[in-house]
Amino acid sequence: MNIETIRTRLAGGELDARAVAERALTAAEELNETLGAFLQIDRAGALARAGELDAGRQGDESSAQPLGAVPVAVKDNICVRGLQASCGSRILGGYHPPYNATAIERLRDAGAIIVGKTNCDEFAMGSSNENSAYHPVRNPWDTARVPGGSSGGSAAAVAARIVPVALGSDTGGSVRQPASLCGIVGVKTTYGRVSRYGLVAFGSSLDQIGIFATNTADAALTLSVIAGRDPRDATTADTPVPDYVSELTGDMRDARIGVPRELFGAGLDADVRASVEAAIETYRALGAEVVDVELPHAKYAIAVYYIIATAEASSNLARYDGVRYGFRAEESHTLREMYRRTREEGFGAEVKRRIMLGTYVLSSGYYDAYYLKAQKVRTLLKQDFARAFERCDAIITPTSPTTAFLLGEKTDDPLAMYLNDIYTVTANLAGIPGLSVPCGLSQAKLPIGMQLLGPHWSEPTLFRFAHAYEQAQPFDARPPVSAEEQ
Ligand code: GLN
Repeated sequence: MNIETIRTRLAGGELDARAVAERALTAAEELNETLGAFLQIDRAGALARAGELDAGRQGDESSAQPLGAVPVAVKDNICVRGLQASCGSRILGGYHPPYNATAIERLRDAGAIIVGKTNCDEFAMGSSNENSAYHPVRNPWDTARVPGGSSGGSAAAVAARIVPVALGSDTGGSVRQPASLCGIVGVKTTYGRVSRYGLVAFGSSLDQIGIFATNTADAALTLSVIAGRDPRDATTADTPVPDYVSELTGDMRDARIGVPRELFGAGLDADVRASVEAAIETYRALGAEVVDVELPHAKYAIAVYYIIATAEASSNLARYDGVRYGFRAEESHTLREMYRRTREEGFGAEVKRRIMLGTYVLSSGYYDAYYLKAQKVRTLLKQDFARAFERCDAIITPTSPTTAFLLGEKTDDPLAMYLNDIYTVTANLAGIPGLSVPCGLSQAKLPIGMQLLGPHWSEPTLFRFAHAYEQAQPFDARPPVSAEEQ
């Protein structure tokens, strides 16, 4: 059920919040053996919350709340009071934050029911969910394949119709890429649009909480709820939050779509290319003008991203020292030994690789050559986008160069894994919004996603364009592993 169906059935008295929560919980429990999407399922908490909503409802109050009785799954690096926040890491195993992230407070105030915490790559570092310290997540379209990452659990939970909406985090593509590989919508907002308070930091200048949904309208509605200034996150902006849903007019007249041709070259899977090309033609048929744009510095984006993200991560992850949070190694005799052993045992290989890379690029002697240089190229990339957006309202690209790959296919080759992020990291570096929308299936029946990127604060335009495409080319396919329809 999407949000609209839940609201209609609730209003019509066909369902109550408890029945909605029960269905999501049962689906989460039953499918977890196959998919591994959840690290924690909060049956008791979700049912208690549903009971509260039903008691307060008396008539149709909760169906009047924007997210009344909507079950939501939350990536395990976003704090929900009373639940775990392991970040997919051993070092935070057993850590239960005593507070809610701002996005969670806002979801709850809007009537949502949090059903559980989803699996992810450790500290959101990865593109396949295989870096989780607990277990991998499997793609509901083909369980031999990855769901993408790092928010793989949230993506799989929505794709398998366990919940209509989930939260993830996107530092370099971790919402858009798994959305693409799982055949759903994924949104990463303008930096500063959604509060990061309660999101465990990875790369602070890049991180945004993002939204997964089965359609654009649900994503738009959810963003209207969680977006906006938060006194607890000084990087959130005062920019007013529009009613994103009212933007879904289907109108593509006077719209200009930019195509960066140089990004459609080598390394792009033929099926993906054909689907995105077809989407461009759909836009043309809807009345949009298609223009060529150039992003001359996009070819450096992966290198720049993996310098800046690792630098920030090495600093952010210094706080996990065995004293303040979570795991502490046993039998250490000195303080230093305790720090060392805690981090050695608590962090996985990818996280260690990034801490080392980040420490290296920040160290004196290398700082100018790597970190500072990367920051300069980041500015050039931002300027590329500013120039491109003088000619168009949104840029279209594939979201990911390939469809879902096999588990284990890229685990031995970090560089091949990093290359998955080629289309997504640019938005985080420039701070601009991006969303991924399903645009067809490959010959192997795997979902393909296209990405729309826009200038800062252009979420309304991106939603409108995505929705117009969705109306013209509805993506109705369901994955083979999926909760039963109610
Ligand atoms: N795949 C990218 C990385 O490994 C992006 C991760 C993310 O967006 N959290 O860093």
